[in-house]
Amino acid sequence: MQRLRKDDDPRNSKTFPDKGSPKEEVFAALKEYKKDDLDWRSGRVWAYTYHDNTMEEIEQVAKHAYMEFLTESGLDPTVFPSLMRFENELVSMSANHVNGGPDVVGNFTSGGTESIMLAVKTARDWARAHRPHITKPNMVLPVTAHAAFHKAGQYMDVETKTTPVDSTTFRALVEPMREAVDENTILIVGSAPSYGHGVIDPMEEIGQVAVEKDILYHVDACMGGFALPYFRRLGEDIPPFGFEVPGVTSLSMDLHKYAYTPKGASIILYKDKDLRRHQIFSFSQWTGYTMINNTIQSTKTGGPIAAAWATVKYLGDDGYLKLAEKALRTRKAVVDGINRIPKLRVLSHPQMTLVGFTSDEVNVFHIIDEMKERGWYVQPQLAYDNSPANIHLSINPSNEKWVDAVLADLAECVEVAAKLPKSDLAETVQQMFASINPDDLTPEMFSNMLNMAGVQGHEVPERMAEINMILDALPPLIRERLLGEFVNDLFVYRGE
Ligand SMILES: *Cc1c(COP(=O)(O)O)cnc(C)c1O
Repeated sequence: MQRLRKDDDPRNSKTFPDKGSPKEEVFAALKEYKKDDLDWRSGRVWAYTYHDNTMEEIEQVAKHAYMEFLTESGLDPTVFPSLMRFENELVSMSANHVNGGPDVVGNFTSGGTESIMLAVKTARDWARAHRPHITKPNMVLPVTAHAAFHKAGQYMDVETKTTPVDSTTFRALVEPMREAVDENTILIVGSAPSYGHGVIDPMEEIGQVAVEKDILYHVDACMGGFALPYFRRLGEDIPPFGFEVPGVTSLSMDLHKYAYTPKGASIILYKDKDLRRHQIFSFSQWTGYTMINNTIQSTKTGGPIAAAWATVKYLGDDGYLKLAEKALRTRKAVVDGINRIPKLRVLSHPQMTLVGFTSDEVNVFHIIDEMKERGWYVQPQLAYDNSPANIHLSINPSNEKWVDAVLADLAECVEVAAKLPKSDLAETVQQMFASINPDDLTPEMFSNMLNMAGVQGHEVPERMAEINMILDALPPLIRERLLGEFVNDLFVYRGE
């Protein structure tokens, strides 16, 4: 076989393999590549994965279904009707779970981001059809709404107008949302719950604004869509957040989070087909096949959809209730435990399994590094608006067995971290950049900043506190540019 690229620059020198390799060698290489990945099965990881390690069979069932449909294609529903059947059944079950009536329709997507991007695209195209006077559409959303809305706004050219949240509950303030809606607003957003603090926005009041102003209303239930109805059944005070709320026109709920299915699985729902029509892409002005797509992907594997269907079937209502009970118990124990640790406080009162906690005395980024040294993975969240820098936990049933251990280590880490210095560099950087316009900064300047913080090429230091303190000190627009440059440099081949 001809080499695809030949170049002496090591960055571009990875050539296509000349000859095939025995499968054993390929399999061994897969294992070798995996060795530094996060050991999420341990239950010591408090983000990224959703999992219960006492039920190994969930994974077996999902993998079986995934492999069975790995090679089927979701491009054309008429030739693989199995996939359409899985999709319609999953959509119907999901709609039912969030009080969707008989008119509610939806689709299976690759994740929360795709669901949200489709909701924004649908709103934009609905407005083009029904509000033709709007030439510069915008959406109104609380500052706690997921970054995916801003991504959708950037991709789809819909402006985002963010509004403040209460500084103790971190719930959306409705009056500023009402005031932010103008004649160009096409969509308003609420989260059930928000990722950062795990609290549910005043969904009904936001719905009133939507009805009053006659605009579309998207509920981001990516996290809560599957779990919250169980929490309610378990006696938690969970306010209405689904299609029973007047004004709701679309809702996203991720299967690959608290429905415990493999990644690449989410559901987008619409109040009816009239609205969903604006999501569909149908095109025949070219020389190939007529392309009709519900979602962003076209040719796609049937794996995630079959695996999601199989997982839901296998677990069933009783299985999900048990998992919810375990996750809820774990969250309660963790929140109570954190609030008992001197110098720590949980932000607001998390209503689901997502927790943000902070310290007014100790730098949280040192705490995160200390936790990492003790084998725990927890997620940093930088300060923004009235939310201080904090530590995020997405709690899973598999974390339950570690509750006492994690709280004991956390208490110890707080004391160790309290003795560690603040970053002088962070303060210098803060002063330097306070008045700089990010557009005046060149990629070279960003690369120098990264080097100063200890990032060499694509190697990040073991201890991330200094980098996190610098990021936290920087104006958000500069943070974004810096991280963009970092990732732009990360995805470059640099040799073995
Ligand atoms: C995870 C999440 C998303 C984005 O979903 P992905 O599946 O990561 O693309 C959106 N909203 C909320 C509230 C989330 O937690």
